[in-house]
Amino acid sequence: MPKYIFVTGGVVSSVGKGAVAASIGKLLHWRGYGVDFLKIDPYVNVDAGTLNPYSHGEVFVTDDGGETDLDLGWYERFLDVPMSRHNNLTTGQVYLEVINQEREGKFLGQCVQIIPHITNEIKRRIRSVAARSGADFVIVEIGGTAGDIEGQPFYEAARQMKLEEETLFVHVALLVFLEATMEFKTKALQHSINELRRIGIQPDIVIARSKKMIDDQTRSKIALFSTLPKDAVFCSLDVETIYELPLVLEEQGLGDYISKRFNLRNEKTSISEWKWIVSRFKEAKHLVKIGVCGKYTSLTDSYVSIREALKHAGAFNDTKVEIVWIDVEEFERDEDKISVLKSLDGILVPGGFGKRGSEGKLKAIRFARESRIPYLGICFGLQLAVIEFARNVLGLEGANSVEIEPETEHPVVTAIPEQTEVRAMGGTMRLGSQPVKVIENTLAHSLYGSNLVYERHRHRFEVNPEYWGALTKGGLVFSGFSLDGRRVEIIELKDHPFFIAGQFHPEYKSRPGRPSPLFNGFIIAALNQKLEQAKTIH
Ligand code: GLN
Repeated sequence: MPKYIFVTGGVVSSVGKGAVAASIGKLLHWRGYGVDFLKIDPYVNVDAGTLNPYSHGEVFVTDDGGETDLDLGWYERFLDVPMSRHNNLTTGQVYLEVINQEREGKFLGQCVQIIPHITNEIKRRIRSVAARSGADFVIVEIGGTAGDIEGQPFYEAARQMKLEEETLFVHVALLVFLEATMEFKTKALQHSINELRRIGIQPDIVIARSKKMIDDQTRSKIALFSTLPKDAVFCSLDVETIYELPLVLEEQGLGDYISKRFNLRNEKTSISEWKWIVSRFKEAKHLVKIGVCGKYTSLTDSYVSIREALKHAGAFNDTKVEIVWIDVEEFERDEDKISVLKSLDGILVPGGFGKRGSEGKLKAIRFARESRIPYLGICFGLQLAVIEFARNVLGLEGANSVEIEPETEHPVVTAIPEQTEVRAMGGTMRLGSQPVKVIENTLAHSLYGSNLVYERHRHRFEVNPEYWGALTKGGLVFSGFSLDGRRVEIIELKDHPFFIAGQFHPEYKSRPGRPSPLFNGFIIAALNQKLEQAKTIH
């Protein structure tokens, strides 16, 4: 029978529940158990696809084309198991299902209520995760904080499951540290536990989230107020690299405690491999500076998978990656600002939507191409590289994407034919894992080392087939295509140290210890460039 571990949050949101949930999964993996996840987002949207990454953080795309919460990215990076749309549940999905059933007359005249109808649907969805994957454990992370009005039906469903299944409740709450008096203050954490109790949930484990390790006295105090033994209180502290967190929690005995609670065979297997991977993040010999030229740069969570993919590739090459978040709109206001790009070892233009900032991104791409700085373009970063090439190499003035300029004279990027009919916004793009044919004797082929790869997509527009001839004649190389050969998937430049872009998002499949080939090549090129330059200076 599957077991269910509920992870709740307290005091503030973004307390790091995702990383803790993923770490608990890792501790169970190390003990040989199969783990699956469900991230619950109590907002009314049906999925994360229509959310603004500027306020909510990145949309994580799964193999099956789910547009999901970024915490699924942490589950994938920590456990290296693919998530799907079914691993993310929202209030919108629950109500949509129940209301559709009501309209079909499935409730036979009953009054449809939050308890039991909504809570039953929530429980069904939680159980279906276990049924689908056959996992030994399902870790259910409830978004937001205890006491939020939106979360109530989910907490209620979790409370009911305590009577019906083998469960464990883990509460992760911020522990305030007062700099002025140099002491931990537990009151806010206590209140959040009371909030949970008010709705009938007594946590089995409390994890205090704090900057530094809690002292023994604070641990005892938290235990006392939580009605828990002292060894049920743990600390999730700031770590140098997030991948260290499972090791830190294991050291404190969290894995052993969970094993004891569930009566598990407590044999650990392959911790040493993870330790080795983590050590590589800490022992960098080199440093490269990568500029990420985007629109949402004030909230770095908007690009969390890209940030992590850069770090993975860096660690793999003994290199620390310093990410410089560049607000491209500055280039539009002031031409001279482009000089900030001179100090970079690599330029990356990530995925994006809409007109705002696009001219600034084009300037950054032109700079990368002309100054021979390694360039990696992702999705929108491919489309803009094609536009830049059309304008400044082919001389097609005003070339653009119809997304940015519907009436453009040279629509070098145009809507995917199947997309022109689409009116609805949610879940309607070309989404998820798609095969990409990689052409031999290209940079792409040397990076992937394969003729066929799978990458995850999320786009409505593509390189216009009417311009393929002009673009390739002008020197742009198409090094990857969809399986039917009808769409361009990868472009690159020949006479450039490293200039490549994909119509997909390789960052979603990057893992610590196994970086994405495109990111890996990009970091190696950036490093080589830097070492070359150092040679010429000396
Ligand atoms: N806006 C572009 C499109 O829809 C690119 C999308 C993206 O970068 N994910 O095709």
